[in-house]
This record gives sequence, C-alpha cells and structure tokens, in this order.
Amino acid sequence: MKHYRVCIVGGGLSGLTAAYYLLREGVRNVVIIESNSHAGGLLRSEKVGDYLFDIGGSHIMFSRNYRVLSEMLSLLTDDYVAHRRNTKIYYKGLFVKYPFENGLGQLPPIERYECLKELINTYIMRIKGELKEPENFYEWILYVFGKSIAEKYLIPYNEKLWKVDLREITLDWVRGRVPNPPLEDVIKAATGIEVEGYKHQLFFYYPVSGIESLAKSLISRIVRLGGELRYSSPAVTIRPCSRSDKIKNIELPEDELACSCVIYTAPLSDMRLLKYVVSSEIARGVSKLRSIPLSVVGVGLSRPIKPIHWMYFPDRNTVFHRVAVLSNYSPRTAPTGGSALIAEVSFPDVDSMLSANEDRLVRRVTEGLESAGLIKSIKDVETARVWRWRHAYVLYDRLRRSILPKVRAELISQGIFLHGRFGSWEYLNMDAVFMKSKELTKYVIKYLQEIQHK
Ligand SMILES: Cc1cc2nc3c(=O)[nH]c(=O)nc-3n(C[C@H](O)[C@H](O)[C@H](O)COP(=O)(O)OP(=O)(O)OC[C@H]3O[C@@H](n4cnc5c(N)ncnc54)[C@H](O)[C@@H]3O)c2cc1C
Repeated sequence: MKHYRVCIVGGGLSGLTAAYYLLREGVRNVVIIESNSHAGGLLRSEKVGDYLFDIGGSHIMFSRNYRVLSEMLSLLTDDYVAHRRNTKIYYKGLFVKYPFENGLGQLPPIERYECLKELINTYIMRIKGELKEPENFYEWILYVFGKSIAEKYLIPYNEKLWKVDLREITLDWVRGRVPNPPLEDVIKAATGIEVEGYKHQLFFYYPVSGIESLAKSLISRIVRLGGELRYSSPAVTIRPCSRSDKIKNIELPEDELACSCVIYTAPLSDMRLLKYVVSSEIARGVSKLRSIPLSVVGVGLSRPIKPIHWMYFPDRNTVFHRVAVLSNYSPRTAPTGGSALIAEVSFPDVDSMLSANEDRLVRRVTEGLESAGLIKSIKDVETARVWRWRHAYVLYDRLRRSILPKVRAELISQGIFLHGRFGSWEYLNMDAVFMKSKELTKYVIKYLQEIQHK
C-alpha cells in the first residue's frame, strides 16, 4: 500500500489550493484523490458547439482582500478581463440597478416612496431600540431594510434561491454577505443620485477562456512541484489504520492508500466516507446537514444581448433566480455576433433536481428569457445544455451551528482536516478558499511535525 504524507480528498479549488500551498512550503508526498475524470470541482468550463459555458454557475473573481485578489490573478496563465459591474434586478418589467436599494430611483414614485418611508421608519425604530433584535435571516431583512424593500425583493428572491422558510437560516450566514447599506446612500439613490453598493464586488475580473483556467493553472503548478493527482478515484471510506493511530487508510474502488494526514473537501454530509472515524451520534447529525442543489442551464444565442453582466429574478413565475451573460464577461465565450448565458435554477432537494426533465427545463428557461425581453424568440437559441449539481449552497441552520464544532474536533484529533465549501460546510467564495487554504497549511505542517516527534 502506498504511503503519502498528505492525502487530499477532492480536487476542487479547495483541494487544489491546499496542495499548492503545502508543496510550496516544501511538504512532499502529497496526493489529491478526485472522483471525477477532471479536477476543478465547480470551476469547470465546457465547450458546446461554438459556445463556452461555466458549468458550475457564474464565477467572477473579486475580493475585499487586495493581496488575495492579486495572488488569484497572478496565477492565471491565461489572460483576464477587468470589468465594472453592470448588474440588474428584473422587477416588474424593469431592469433595476443592483443592489435593489441603490436602484430605487428607477422605481415608479409610489414604490420609491413606500421603500424609503419604511426604511427610514425602521431605521428610527431600530436606533430608538424599539425593534426586537432579529434571530434569523427573515427577521434580519425586515430589521435592516423595512417591510417594503423586504417584500418587493429581498424575501421573494431569497425564498426562491434557498427554497426554505428564511426563518430557518441563522444569522451567522447573513453578516458580510447581504449588503447592509448606509441610509444616506439609499436616500441619494431614491432621489436619483448615483450611488454604488456592495463595493468590494463593483470591480471584478474574469479569465478570457472561462473560470476553469484558474483550476488548470493550479493543476499545472501542482504537477510541476511534484504533487500527484489521481483522477476517477472516489474515496470510498476513511478508516484508522489498525497498526498505527498516526496513519489513516483511504479506500478507493480498486486500491487503498495510507496517509499521515487527510484534508477532506468532499461533501461532509456524505457520511459514508467518514463513518469509521466519527462517533455514531455525530454521524447521525452530520448526515442531516442540508444544502441546496442547482441546475445550470447554458444557452447559446445567435444574437448579442444587453450589456448586463448578471441579473437577479425575484418573481415566482420565472424558473431561474439568476442569469449571467458570460459573453459580456469575455467575448471569447461566444461566436461573433452571438452570446452565451447561463441560467441558475435551484431545487428543494436532489431528487427533484435529478428528475427535472431536461427539455422542459430548457423550455421554461427560454420562456423566462423571452418574457424578460432578453431574447426575441426561441429561434434565437442555437444551443442549450443542462448541468446538475447535488450541492451548491450550504444551508446555515441551527443543526449546522451545533454539529460543526463537534465533528471538526473529533476529526482534527485524528489528523483529518475538514476544508472547503462542502468539506467544512461553509459559504465560501474563491478568495476565502485561498485564505483558508493558506491558513490550513500552517496547521497541517504543525500536525505533521508533532506526529513525527511523538
Ligand atoms: C453557483 C455558484 C456560484 C459561485 N460564484 C462564485 C463567484 O462568483 N465568485 C467566487 O469567488 N466564488 C463563487 N462561488 C464559490 C466557489 O465555487 C467555491 O468557493 C469553490 O469552487 C469551492 O471549491 P471546493 O473545492 O470547496 O468545492 P468543489 O468545487 O465542490 O470541489 C469538491 C471536489 O471534491 C470531489 N469529490 C466529491 N466527493 C469525492 C470523493 N468521495 N472522493 C474524491 N473526490 C470527491 C468533487 O468531484 C469535487 O471536484 C460560487 C459557487 C456556486 C455554487
């Protein structure tokens, strides 16, 4: 049986960045085990005819942290394009500037008045201490934005995306993720003065040949640094080795590996892999963690489309909650005169996502595009394809909050580190993955030194 110092389960961005940083720090004998025939996880770009689609949903590169952003961009061997965001919310036939509260000036006067009045009343009551502190996402939206903005946009949009009662989402998800606007900016916006919100994402970057370029660049660096990638190798179980508590065995369909330390980035809720290394009580809890599955529908059009980057659709009649126009990120994703877009459709559970008929889904997407005036007719559609993802958004509920620290503690003591969007069950963007991978490298190196001296 081959022995590695570090086995990384999953070759998505988290597994790739963890391997890259470890190798750069001089750790040798690192392997990534990837269940698919490709690495990259959600960062995949696929060509369909003359169109190129990011099949894991719309991915743009941005960060509050300038150093991380520079590092991500410097990794791209491919060229990239810089953009100033042009993002809209499709609301009652209007393309309203994003975030919604910064686009109030575009609403009819009566709606503008309702939003502003409720926002200011809520603000006054909040600072006077007359409002009950929010305990969940639903209450938080009303507490910060007031009833009108909440009911027109934030509640319907988030219910459509999350497919759960927003009272089930805990506040630890909200902070830093949903824009919390200064009152003055909203007043300016409502009276017609241009303001920008969610500023750390106002400028963003995109690789000219699709987001997979980032994963490809990491893979080539890992290989150059002596790391190993095993494709089509799903980890089946992780077990403690009977001869030494410093070694874990990873069973693959046709092989078994031994390793001193495991970085686990596969979905945590898939308890088949971890059932021999966690207690049955924790395993039961973890297997009930919830995530939202997603279908990504790629549509290639024979015509150009409005110069919008991406759009949100809060209305219940449209099947998708978001559409991204990839050809407005990079013209290389569509033939001259055409455009490439992806529509994202979330589902309440994996069964309904898997059983959704492909032709019907494509038809509903094209109907949605037509009714928003983004295409003139079905004849504009040259190609369409559906991709399905079991896990896209991890749900921050009470179970997650109580079980995560316990499972982490049980596994760390055995040299198994939970990592990544689904391994650590955290809502991580790519920049956070880079930061967390760098941080993890220190812990892993320390752990390897400690077991060597025991
Ligand atoms: C719709 C959507 C849009 C997003 N947009 C943005 C954006 O605009 N900007 C941004 O910064 N971030 C964005 N993100 C976040 C970004 O996608 C993630 O931060 C990042 O891709 C997470 O990578 P990961 O490796 O943790 O997970 P994954 O990409 O899921 O990788 C996990 C890997 O593990 C493999 N695996 C699973 N089970 C096993 C097993 N048993 N054995 C071996 N391998 C296994 C999988 O095949 C996969 O390759 C978005 C995410 C989604 C869902």
